[in-house]
Amino acid sequence: THVVAEPCSGCKYTDCVVVCPVECFYEGDQMLYIHPEECIDCEACVPECPVEAIFHEDNVPEEWKSYTELNATKSEEC
Ligand code: SF4
Repeated sequence: THVVAEPCSGCKYTDCVVVCPVECFYEGDQMLYIHPEECIDCEACVPECPVEAIFHEDNVPEEWKSYTELNATKSEEC
C-alpha cells in the first residue's frame, strides 16, 4: 500500500484523489489517508502530490513511520 505522511497535514490538495483509480483516499480533519486494503500500488498519486507526502509503505521516511498505522486506522473511521 501507499501511505500519506505528515507533509499532507494542512494541505489537502486533492490532486491525488482525482487520479486514484480505486478511490481509496479518505479525508480526515487535517489530512488525507489511504486505505491500505484498497490501494493497488499503481503510483498514480505520487507525482501528483504537491508536497511529496505519499510514499510506498516500504519507503516511508523513518520519522513518519507511524503514519502507516495512522492511515490504516483513520481511513477506516472516515
Ligand atoms: Fe490510489 Fe494508486 Fe495512489 Fe494507491 S498508489 S492511493 S491506488 S493512486
